[in-house]
Amino acid sequence: MIGLLKSMATTMKHALSGDTFTVEYPEEAPEVSARFRGVHKFSQERCIWCRQCENVCPNDTIQIVTDNQRNGEQYNLHVGQCIYCRLCEEVCPVDAILLTENFEFTGDTKHDLVFNKEQLKNVPWYNDIDPVASREPDRGAWIGDGEGEVDYQ
Ligand code: SF4
Ligand code: SF4
Repeated sequence: MIGLLKSMATTMKHALSGDTFTVEYPEEAPEVSARFRGVHKFSQERCIWCRQCENVCPNDTIQIVTDNQRNGEQYNLHVGQCIYCRLCEEVCPVDAILLTENFEFTGDTKHDLVFNKEQLKNVPWYNDIDPVASREPDRGAWIGDGEGEVDYQ
């Protein structure tokens, strides 16, 4: 009984203080943590097709297709089944994957959220994400900053 009264007192204290902890989404975009893990962006320019992201991904969200010379041919992303564990970003040796702050995308079924690298370039909600504005990539990666803009698909 005392516990119930204490919890009600805490609730009333916050209710009457005027503080708000929610926003009127979608009119107002919520601020997410700097460590938030949203949909990831891929840079074909940086990728060395080592397949480590594909191997570490626990649920086949990423599929890499290479030819018999190990040249990269395709990067398939099944966004609808990603669990945002960030293992792919951590394992990538060249910052070719960055998880961004974006969580705003929809599809009627998970099949609507399956893309290859060419299709990703034409998906508005994906194309508009600026990954570097969301998060600074790990500049300690061995490839360094490279030259010019990084083209994240
Ligand atoms: S964040 Fe995790 S689940 Fe999503 S693509 Fe990367 S490794 Fe796979
Ligand atoms: S780990 Fe990075 S470099 Fe290797 S295939 Fe994946 S995106 Fe490309």
